[in-house]
Amino acid sequence: MANEKVLIICKDALTGQRLENEILAPAGYQVTFVSEGKPALDLLRQAPADLVFLSNSLLDGDGLEFGARLSERLPALPLVLVPTDLTPALAVQALRQGFWDCLPAAAPAADVLRVVEQCLGRRKRLRTWAQNEARRTSSSLQKRLDTVESLQQVGRSVTSMLDLDTILTAVVDAAVDLTGAEEGSLLLLDEASGELYMRASRNFQDDFVRKFRLPVRDSLAGQVIRTGKAITFDHSVPQKIKTSYLVHTLIYVPLQSHQRVIGVLGVDNRQSGHPFQDGHLALISTLADYAAIAIENARAYANVEIERKKLETILTRVEDCVIVVDNDGRLLLANHAAQMVFGLEGSLTAQPVANFMHHQDLLDIFQQSNPASYRTEINLDDGRIFSAQVTPIADVGVAATMQDITHLKELDRIKSEFVSTVSHDLRSPLTAILGYVELIERVGPVTAQQREFINRVQVSVHNITSLINDLLDLGRIEAGFDARKELTPFAAIIQSASETLALKISDKAQTLVIDTPGELPGVMGNPVRLRQMVANILGNAVKYTPHSGKIVVQARCEEGQIIFQVTDNGPGIPVTDQPYIFDKFYRASNVPSESSGSGLGLAIVKSIVENHGGRIWVESTEGKGTTFTVVLPVSTGESPV
Ligand code: ADP
Repeated sequence: MANEKVLIICKDALTGQRLENEILAPAGYQVTFVSEGKPALDLLRQAPADLVFLSNSLLDGDGLEFGARLSERLPALPLVLVPTDLTPALAVQALRQGFWDCLPAAAPAADVLRVVEQCLGRRKRLRTWAQNEARRTSSSLQKRLDTVESLQQVGRSVTSMLDLDTILTAVVDAAVDLTGAEEGSLLLLDEASGELYMRASRNFQDDFVRKFRLPVRDSLAGQVIRTGKAITFDHSVPQKIKTSYLVHTLIYVPLQSHQRVIGVLGVDNRQSGHPFQDGHLALISTLADYAAIAIENARAYANVEIERKKLETILTRVEDCVIVVDNDGRLLLANHAAQMVFGLEGSLTAQPVANFMHHQDLLDIFQQSNPASYRTEINLDDGRIFSAQVTPIADVGVAATMQDITHLKELDRIKSEFVSTVSHDLRSPLTAILGYVELIERVGPVTAQQREFINRVQVSVHNITSLINDLLDLGRIEAGFDARKELTPFAAIIQSASETLALKISDKAQTLVIDTPGELPGVMGNPVRLRQMVANILGNAVKYTPHSGKIVVQARCEEGQIIFQVTDNGPGIPVTDQPYIFDKFYRASNVPSESSGSGLGLAIVKSIVENHGGRIWVESTEGKGTTFTVVLPVSTGESPV
């Protein structure tokens, strides 16, 4: 022993010096002697002592109280009271206040050294015990930490991995490692046979795992499936627990998914003397939850994959071309038909379309951003024509579905040609009929009834003639025969078209308001056709607006375009008819049967507008009125084509 540090705190210098110089220092102890409490505390803070002698009174206070406070702060520091006068009552009080021993200040040296050695011995034992205890606690903490880490790892693999085999094997491995069991297995219920099979295992023979089949009835695992409750047992004699193998100890917990038990996670020991511990059941339950989540995820993923494959097959098989491009102009999808038609060979997914798409019409679709869906035509160099439905899809990009309409276009052309030939051939006989009908009155008197019949013939022939004229016009416009264009003052066109309708307007006592700015730029176009376009729209307004109605014609120039509008307060057009009124021969359902017209006027208007690079649309509310809007590009001053 010796060389330990002893601190003497004593008011009486003689006692202190005797202890230091005559007893402790000669015995090899490093002694420090102070007579006040405060410097003693500072000393203890700087270098802890191994033992402290305290007298019952100090220069700056009561030694017993000081000792009591010291013992509270440093319970492993031996405190020995050395009063000048040691009574039994003082000794009892000192021990109660945390002193380890008491000695009279004048005790013989041998007694002092014996007490010192006893106290230091006890202190040593205390320290060893404390160290062992700390080691034991920290090793159990380490074990817990390892468990939490293993659980975390399994948890991470459940969320980050898609391979179910790997996850379930990791679950069984963790169950075995964390419980120290000999074997682990994950049994799943085969819905078809109603039996349990081993989906993952540890330390079972491969052959055993392959052949393992367990009925749900009459088996312990089956009981877990049926009741949804965990089972544990610990027997000194091995039990053939209807598992088809013998075990001493076992934990089986259910795997629950959507309130249904789908399997069992189990660990067991075939050898005796390996009992499971308290926390193991909770641990296996947590792992079972992880396994159930992984199985659920895998099933959900498999379902999504099946749906995705179905959609992919549909997209691949449809004969229409489908191309989807993302918002950055990169190809997301081109189905087989689109690849064939547009020559999109190789793996082009995620490539910018501008790098490989060579059809300008198609490229335009994906390069211009249009917030609404629309229909357009794509003309290929080999003469094929596709009708494209272009649909912007939020957060995805733009999808275009395209159908080959070449044959429809050809049919349309043949039909137009036929109509135009027949109309042309009908015109001469009709002119002859009109001529002869006019001659009837000249060759002799006619009765009033004959006069009436002649009038009816004339009106009918006029109607047929105007229908034929419309058909011929339409044929010519669609065939592009009016390609010659000149700078046409649009204000003059409006003026001239409204003058031709002045008589009809005054007959119906209608109000016509023409609202155009003093100066309107010219339009590069065919004046006859532009006048026909304005006259048709205005003529319809006059025709369909009742007696005393109001018609407003407006024209203005905005951003290089002429905006021409005709608004009336007539009967309006039912919403369901509005998409079709520009089709040939289409008349809205609210047109009275006696109202004259063939349904060709607006088809002619639309063709004229489109031939001039413009757009037309209608806004109408039934019972309130209609507005037709035409937008035409103004002349840029280039010479006429
Ligand atoms: P129509 O010879 O029948 O006037 P159009 O092609 O000129 O043929 O017009 C097609 C249909 O559009 C008309 O039959 C009518 O139903 C509707 N329509 C056109 N203009 C108006 C209008 N100003 N007010 C109400 N309906 C109109």
